[in-house]
Amino acid sequence: MTITGHTQLVGLIGASVTYSLSLRMHNGAFHALGMDWAYLPLPVRAGNIGDAVRGLRALSFVGANVTMPYKEQVIEHLDEMTEAAARMGAVNTIHHVGGRLIGDNTDADGFMADLAAHDVDPAGRMALILGAGGAARAVAHALHQRGARLRLTNRTRSRADALAKTVGGTKVVDWTDRGTVRADLIVNCTPVGMLNRIGESPWPGPLGPDQTVVDLIYTPQKTALLKQAQDAGALAIGGLGMLVQQAALSFARWTDRSPPTAVMRATLENL
Ligand code: NAP
Repeated sequence: MTITGHTQLVGLIGASVTYSLSLRMHNGAFHALGMDWAYLPLPVRAGNIGDAVRGLRALSFVGANVTMPYKEQVIEHLDEMTEAAARMGAVNTIHHVGGRLIGDNTDADGFMADLAAHDVDPAGRMALILGAGGAARAVAHALHQRGARLRLTNRTRSRADALAKTVGGTKVVDWTDRGTVRADLIVNCTPVGMLNRIGESPWPGPLGPDQTVVDLIYTPQKTALLKQAQDAGALAIGGLGMLVQQAALSFARWTDRSPPTAVMRATLENL
């Protein structure tokens, strides 16, 4: 990649972005299409999210992705929100248009696109979401819109209660009781299973062949939860497919071009 005086900048805001796969996907896509664009790691220390967002505007970034733990915190620093992001209360994509920073969310559509790719239709099925952070918000709203019956559980109960208030017909289950819920679909929206928690599973209950388990984690690709699901004969879906789908949607939003999804996916092969 060559950086020129005309290079258009986008990047990833998060507490820890060192190992992010988004850098590979977006820079691979820019390269494949011969675009003079670059996607940069933008690590942000606790307490500096406001400065980081103002920096995007000051430095004429076209946009950014937002990851843990800033998807909710970033909102108060933006000028506008899309209707979907406002409804979810979480932003994973910022677009800088005419000096204004617009918050959007491509996680929800990315999640649903990957479920569809696995022939999973959540309509009428019971779904249990583990977690109540930014990703859980997107998943909860997407599943609710698609007609799933929702159960939410989170280590910090008050966050699950707050999320449930924004999604109709949702029941909250205590974190300590989560293993007793018999759901058709279980979605892990916590980082339990990655980084310093590799080998740990957030699911303490039984699983069976009639269930679908989605782990949003993509490093490692096969988490302890997915192994547990496979061993029980359940359909086990990792986070890589959603990662590609949400990235493709962000790419389209920033560049107004059709995303080279196959190229983006190929950058993640042989990891
Ligand atoms: P976040 O906003 O920081 O939320 C993290 C959630 O996990 C919170 O509900 C938190 O509970 C819970 N949590 C954290 N540590 C925990 C622990 N040790 N035990 C139990 N619960 C714990 O993060 P996020 O952006 O939603 O991301 C969550 C996960 O989804 C990450 O693994 C991320 O990589 C993944 N993700 C994947 C994709 C994809 O495309 N595949 C997209 C988005 C996110 P508290 O409220 O108690 O703190």
